[in-house]
This record gives sequence, structure tokens and C-alpha cells, in this order.
Amino acid sequence: MNRRQFIKTSTLLSSSIAMPTILLPSQKKSIGVALVGLGYYSTGLLAPAFGLTQYCHLAGIVTGTPNKAVSWQKQYGIKDNNIYNYENMHEMADNPDIDVVYIVTPNALHLKYAAIAANAGKHVWCEKPLEINGAQGQKLLNVCAKNKVQLTVGYRMQHEANTRTIMSWSKSKPYGKIKLLNAEAGWNASGYEGWKLEKELGGGAMYDMGTYPLNAARYVTGEEPIAVIASHYTDKPNRFSQVDETTTFKLEFPSGAIADCTTTLAKSVNKLHVNCQNGYYGLEPFQSYNGVRGSASDGVLLNTYVENQQAKQMDDDALAILNNTSVMVPGEDGLKDMFIMDAIFESASKGGKRIQL
Ligand code: NAD
Repeated sequence: MNRRQFIKTSTLLSSSIAMPTILLPSQKKSIGVALVGLGYYSTGLLAPAFGLTQYCHLAGIVTGTPNKAVSWQKQYGIKDNNIYNYENMHEMADNPDIDVVYIVTPNALHLKYAAIAANAGKHVWCEKPLEINGAQGQKLLNVCAKNKVQLTVGYRMQHEANTRTIMSWSKSKPYGKIKLLNAEAGWNASGYEGWKLEKELGGGAMYDMGTYPLNAARYVTGEEPIAVIASHYTDKPNRFSQVDETTTFKLEFPSGAIADCTTTLAKSVNKLHVNCQNGYYGLEPFQSYNGVRGSASDGVLLNTYVENQQAKQMDDDALAILNNTSVMVPGEDGLKDMFIMDAIFESASKGGKRIQL
């Protein structure tokens, strides 16, 4: 498809009538997914992962860059009719090839494109964080509920085998009561230029990497925090004038457990450690794309091999649609993190004041 055909497709279908396609034909064996936003994560991780999925396939794309449409079509054999831009993506409503729209845009645009997808009758897979605050996140959940489409958040760690073992320990508590957990997630963004440095699009460490320690604190304890204390830090105030470079936050849980968390764009950090009454366990790395592993104080190893996290996540989510069962990571989980993040930003803006949730 060349640039002219791309523009033509965008206008040709503009009078089509929206017909929800949430009711999948019963014989469907694989879910058709359209990726929205063909940047780093879509290009490097998600698109290649479709080569390893069993229950879903890359059926379509939404891009504002005609050249990307040409190269993606060549690489992945995407049909002409399944290539959309941001202006005409609502026309997917009458395209039965596309069952799911996977939102992989800057964070502050998740609601905008998720709403278009849901209103077109498509299930929504939304990258983390769900949005940039609780109010936006709530709207995202509402629009999916109104259209009766599934919503799942791209918390890939919750699909990862070793992480799932730790999640199960939140109930069985094999090492006793959880007392203190430390979680750190960060990368060195010194060479980065782009929207992750811009406030308006949802940049900054907390939105980018903070979801990992925050979500981990909740899935490790199996509890919801009751209070938060947070602060931001940077030694590069000119570069990080709009967004946080490093955020530390402490969460208090009803059982008395405490989570001490750090997220940063200053350096690479990647570990989870959980201290309990009768021992400890952890994962290091805990949020890498591969090689997540760890151990416990009694020598138990957490080293199950996972071939491809993105393929596993997308297959889990596709099966939930094919079988009409609940999703592993519902929108509500992402929304809870949004409301806690609101409190984290409030605490940091008030000099580390303790905010009750
Ligand atoms: P990116 O900048 O590389 O890609 C973003 C894409 O959105 C680009 O193709 C860009 O063209 C498009 N876009 C649409 N409207 C835009 C606008 N107004 N301004 C800027 N870009 C616009 O970013 P990314 O790293 O791929 O992140 C995208 C999403 O994926 C984010 O929500 C991020 O948190 C998430 N992500 C998740 C993981 C994970 O492991 N789950 C990893 C990386 C990124």
C-alpha cells in the first residue's frame, strides 16, 4: 500500500455504519489484533511476539505515518483494508478481522484511542499505565463497560510464571506474615529524547516504570494500601523540568506490611525482595522482558523458563475472549494503581505528606 492508497482508504470508508463485532463467530480460533501506535514496544516486542502466539494474530495496524504502514504491511502481510490511521480508526467497527485493539501510544492518549476502539465494538488491550490519573482511568473503564467489551491492562508480569508463584504466596504465605517489601524498577534514560520527558503526554518515571513496583506491592501482599508517602528527586533539573526522574514511595498495608519502592529514569534497577516473619524471597530481575528469576530463604528456586512474555500475555488475553471468561488483569487492577498514583503525586507535591487512601 502506498501513501495515496493509505489516504484513500482513510476517506473511502468514512461513511460506514458502526456495527459492533463483539459477538465472535463461534468457529473463530484466533483473535485478530490491531496495534495502535507503532513505536518502540509495538515494533520491538509485540509485533514479533505474534509469531509465537497460538490464539491471536496481528490483523491490523493504526499509524499516523504512511511509511510505517508500507513497511509493516510488507513485513507482516497485513491486508490493505486492515490499515488505519488515527482519524479513521473508528471505521474498524465494520471490520470483522479485528476483534481487539491494543493501545500502545503515549500514556496520556490511552483513553482517547481506547474510547474509539470500544465505541467501535472492539475489545481493548491497554498498555500500562492505564492512563495518567484516576479520573481518566475511570472514564476508560466506563467506555469499555458501556460497550460491553473486555478491557485488560498490559501488566505482563502478572502472566509470568515466577511472578505468578509469588502472587500465589500472597494467599498461602509459606514464609509467614509479610513485613517489608522492597521493589525497584528503572532504566537509564540519559540518551532518550521523546514524550517520556513531557508532562502532557504522561512522561516521567512513575508512569513509565513506577507501575512495576506499585503493582508488585499489591500482588505480593494481596492487599490494598491504606496510606502513601512519596517524594521526587532529580539532579538534572533542566532535563527533568516537567516530569519526575526518580520517585520513591512508601505504601502502608492494613496487615502492617510496608512497601518501600523506587522508580527511576536515572539508572537501571530491577529487583523485588520480600521479608516475612519466617524467611524471605524475591526476584531479580523482576520485570525484565526475559530471565525473571529468584529464590527464597529455604533454597526454593523461582526459575521457570518463559519463552516470550508478550506472547504469553496476548494468548492469555485472547483465550479470555474466545472462551468468554474473565481476563487475568482487568481494567480495575490498572485503575486501582491510578488512584494510588494520584496519592503518590499528591504526597510528593506536598513535601512527602502522608496521604491516606
Ligand atoms: P514510543 O514513543 O516508542 O511509541 C509510541 C507510539 O505512539 C509511536 O508510534 C508514536 O508515533 C505514536 N503516537 C501517537 N500519537 C502520538 C503523539 N501525539 N505523540 C507522540 N507519539 C504518538 O513509546 P513506547 O515506549 O512504545 O510506549 C508506548 C506505550 O507502551 C506506553 O504506554 C508505555 O508505557 C508502554 N510500554 C509498555 C512496555 C511493557 O513492557 N509493557 C514497554 C514499553 C512501553
